[in-house]
Amino acid sequence: MSTLPIDRRGLLGAGVVVAAALGLAACERKAPVSLAPGVSKADFAGFIAAAKSIVGAEWVAGDAQSVKPWTKKYIPDPGNVHAPVGAVAPASVEEVQELVRIANTYKQPLWPVSTGKNMGYGMTSTAAPGQIVLDLKRMNRILSVDPELCTALVEPGVTYQQLKDYLVENNLPLWIDVPTVGPIASPVGNTLDRGVGYTPYGEHFMVQCGMEVVMPNGDLLKTGMGSTKNPSAWQAFKWGYGPYLDGIFTQSNFGVVTKMGMWLLPAPPVYKPFVVRHKKMEDVSRIVDAMRPLRIANIIPNVVLMMGAGYQLGMFARRAEVWDKPEPVPDEAFEAAAAKVGLGMWNTYFALYGTETMVAESEKIVRAAFEAIGGEVLTEADMVGNPYFHHHATLMQGGLSLEEIGIVRWKGAGGGLAWFAPVAPAKGSETVGQVALAKEILGRHGFDYTVAFAIGSRELHHIIALLYDKSDPADEKRAAECYHDLVTGFGDKGWASYRTGVQAMDLVAQQYGEVNRAVNAAIKQALDPNHIIAPGKSGIA
Ligand SMILES: Cc1cc2nc3c(=O)[nH]c(=O)nc-3n(C[C@H](O)[C@H](O)[C@H](O)COP(=O)(O)OP(=O)(O)OC[C@H]3O[C@@H](n4cnc5c(N)ncnc54)[C@H](O)[C@@H]3O)c2cc1C
Repeated sequence: MSTLPIDRRGLLGAGVVVAAALGLAACERKAPVSLAPGVSKADFAGFIAAAKSIVGAEWVAGDAQSVKPWTKKYIPDPGNVHAPVGAVAPASVEEVQELVRIANTYKQPLWPVSTGKNMGYGMTSTAAPGQIVLDLKRMNRILSVDPELCTALVEPGVTYQQLKDYLVENNLPLWIDVPTVGPIASPVGNTLDRGVGYTPYGEHFMVQCGMEVVMPNGDLLKTGMGSTKNPSAWQAFKWGYGPYLDGIFTQSNFGVVTKMGMWLLPAPPVYKPFVVRHKKMEDVSRIVDAMRPLRIANIIPNVVLMMGAGYQLGMFARRAEVWDKPEPVPDEAFEAAAAKVGLGMWNTYFALYGTETMVAESEKIVRAAFEAIGGEVLTEADMVGNPYFHHHATLMQGGLSLEEIGIVRWKGAGGGLAWFAPVAPAKGSETVGQVALAKEILGRHGFDYTVAFAIGSRELHHIIALLYDKSDPADEKRAAECYHDLVTGFGDKGWASYRTGVQAMDLVAQQYGEVNRAVNAAIKQALDPNHIIAPGKSGIA
């Protein structure tokens, strides 16, 4: 099994073992850490020295001890091959440009992150060995907010919390849209990995508008209207002129994004959250078929989460409280435990936004659709004091919460999580096969079916939380094997992932075919001939 990036430039074979150079005690690492192919110890040392002169020594980590804060991860990485070898934190665009230029000089690859909280996808781990994290957290200015156009321009280190606080402090009636871990994560990092949230602006790349990008040769590109003589429409009009470029800087390694425009949602006069409770696993198909027309017609305008009982329980409970055997938790045990906390087997969260009249009219349509398929349609009044409902009601209005992070401790204190998120059309018929396949593969490796479905408008993301105990090496190894089987098993049926962790980027790229890979490789070669920006990201060396 290989979950590592393809060896097009000898990424895996030619690494120089530098545990000694990095000052590693053998017992501190599960495996030796390698420099990138073609990078000698002298090159590495040369880059570190030059980086210190650019950003100041206190913002550079170039040895095993100082790089530790960037090595935390939840994903399975039994061989420790995804650990970075250093980190550098610039404070300005000019410093990023200089760092990229010296990276070319020393052929030292850099792995850019914004806030580096890509939990369950690798945090600040790198897709291929030998990379230095380019940590942009110090570039954390909110550059502008336009209350008339409802737009913002932010730097990579700005967190959702910071943006929310800014809007509140300035009394601006605008909402942000957050992923579940909003307080510590960033609009730029999340959007660049094509993440989602749960208001009507939940598809983040859809509401992104204009970027500034440091190209691999150090040039500064502004996309869309940003490079015109009067860029006042930079955050207003996405497309600019000619080929639309913003997309090639998402889930890619073609540049370092140093500014990003985004749209903000005007606070609606009325916001009403709902949950529809269904009791049985097999209800999944009917729920999706009932939801699809409501999402496509925008009667339900937000990204809908259909939360499985197992995932919901994992937010606030530990596995041992639900099931005391090593075998995967059976549906009946999940069903019983969920019922005790006021949940069903599927809990479908959505909200209505608008005026009193609009919300009241839409509610009639929505109630009729779900009651016709045996759903219990419940509102805040029915769910008073229910922490699960409260959590989702917070998210669907762009509120901030870290509660869900508890899920990483489902199986043990070690904190093990890898997201697997295959895409399918929003048709009930697709869900039946997906549920069966996921349960079969997870079950074969001894893992529980802890999942949700996110319903965009015409598509489903089956969000599978592969939860394991990272403090148990055998469980970590099983998790790595299970993830591989999920990617290939779903891939064989055409259900490829929309996003993945650094441990499986090449494997997921394989599911999209050779022509796709060749085009990405050609763009990479043209823009970054020295392969210094994040080689291996999305399977692009
Ligand atoms: C319990 C839990 C719930 C979660 N819920 C959600 C959710 O609802 N929605 C969701 O989308 N995610 C979710 N996540 C996953 C993840 O934590 C978030 O997506 C988070 O926003 C990503 O971290 P970040 O914002 O710090 O991005 P970063 O880690 O900074 O960036 C993500 C990746 O994008 C690239 N990148 C970042 N910045 C740049 C740049 N400036 N230039 C070039 N490339 C760059 C890098 O490859 C980087 O690794 C969840 C995780 C957990 C544990």
